[in-house]
Amino acid sequence: MTNMNRRSFFATAAKVVGLAVLSPVAIKTLMTSEAKAEQKRGARPGAAGGAVPLVDAKDPVAKAVKYAEDYKKVADAKGNKCATCGFYKKVAVENGKEVGTCTIFAGKHVLADAWCASWNKKA
Ligand code: SF4
Repeated sequence: MTNMNRRSFFATAAKVVGLAVLSPVAIKTLMTSEAKAEQKRGARPGAAGGAVPLVDAKDPVAKAVKYAEDYKKVADAKGNKCATCGFYKKVAVENGKEVGTCTIFAGKHVLADAWCASWNKKA
């Protein structure tokens, strides 16, 4: 390796190492910015500090299972709701409304008073 090649090699290596050190910081900054933007849009923070959005009833998957935010407005619900569904797990009460996770909607929250056609009685 000549001196120029060696110098070029170490300069490139320093840049790569520098990026590797900065990347976690840059990623954390980007994630924090995204979480703040999500919160401004009405999403709630998740367990890891990131925003967890509510399921949007207009989402294609939500439409496919006839997801509705208020079970009382859906005759097919027959009084059933997410809170009594086996796929539901309570996470928090926010703005006076209970929210939780649903196996069908990974990475999102559903309202405890919501309902969908995949409702399954909690054991
Ligand atoms: Fe709610 Fe159960 Fe449907 Fe999930 S599967 S949206 S918890 S009713």
